[in-house]
Amino acid sequence: MIAAHAVGRPLEAVFLDRDGTINVPAAAGDYVRSPDELVLLPGAAAAIRRLNRAGLRTVLVTNQRWLSMPGADRAAFVATQDRLVELLAAEGARLDAAYHCPHAHRSCLCRKPAPGMLWRAADELAIDLTRSVIVGDAVSDVQAGRAAGTGTILLGAGARSPLADAVRPDLPSAVDALIPHRAAQRRQHLEEPHACGRQERF
Ligand SMILES: [Mg+2]
Ligand SMILES: [Zn+2]
Repeated sequence: MIAAHAVGRPLEAVFLDRDGTINVPAAAGDYVRSPDELVLLPGAAAAIRRLNRAGLRTVLVTNQRWLSMPGADRAAFVATQDRLVELLAAEGARLDAAYHCPHAHRSCLCRKPAPGMLWRAADELAIDLTRSVIVGDAVSDVQAGRAAGTGTILLGAGARSPLADAVRPDLPSAVDALIPHRAAQRRQHLEEPHACGRQERF
C-alpha cells in the first residue's frame, strides 16, 4: 500500500503535517497562532510515540502563512511550537525535527504543495525520501509528498485524493498502517527489559 513497503524496504521517516493532523485545526482560513490555541487531537501523541518506538524518524512540516502578514507575532509561533513539543513529551512522544514555511502564497519552494521542507529535511537529516511517507489532512500535503518522492497518506473521514497512496480517518489509524503490528510489539517488548527473565548463569 505504501510505496516503500511495496518494494520491501523498511520505512525510515514519517513527515507529519501539524494543524488538523496532530492538533485541532483553526477555523477555515485562520491559523493556530498562540500556545493556548494548540489542542492535541485524540490519540495523536500516542501515535507519534509509536512511531518513535518503531525507530522511525518524525519530522514536522507545517505551512504557517500568517507569519508573512504584517504584525504577525513570531514569538507566539515559537511558543506554540514549544507547547506542541511539551504536550507530546508529556505523553512520551517526540518530533525529531520541525520545519515550517512562513511565506506567502507562490513566493517560495517550501510552502506545501511545494516539496522544499521535505528536500531540506532530507538533506539536513540524511533521510531517504523514497523510504519516507508524509501524513497530512490536506491534498497539498499529499502533493508535497508526491513532488518529493515519498509515500502519501491523506487523513480525513471521507477524504479522497487520487494522488494519495492511502486514506485514513486519523493519525492513529495511519500509524496502524505504517507499523506492522509484530514489529511494533517486538520493539515495545524489547524496551521493557524485565518483561521476560534471562538467567545469568546456568
Ligand atoms: Mg493540516
Ligand atoms: Zn516557504
